Amino acid sequence: MGQDRDSTDGVGRKVTFLGRGLGLRSQSRLTLLVCPLCSQRNGDRMAAKGTCAWCAYEPAERDEEPCGPDH
Ligand SMILES: [Zn+2]
Repeated sequence: MGQDRDSTDGVGRKVTFLGRGLGLRSQSRLTLLVCPLCSQRNGDRMAAKGTCAWCAYEPAERDEEPCGPDH
C-alpha cells in the first residue's frame, strides 16, 4: 500500500540481497539474476521463479535492498 506515487516501468527495479547477488523486483514478482549465496548467474527459467538454479536458494523479500546507481 502507499506506492501510488511510484511509476513502475514494467521491468522492475534492480535489487541486491544484503549487498550480494542481483535481482529485479517488479510489483509482485522477483527475478533472480545472480544468486547472493553461490554467486552464480541464474538461468532464465529459474530466474523468473526467483529461485537459484544452482543451489535452490530463494531470497527472502526482507533481504532485498535497492541497487545503487553507482555500479
Ligand atoms: Zn545459488
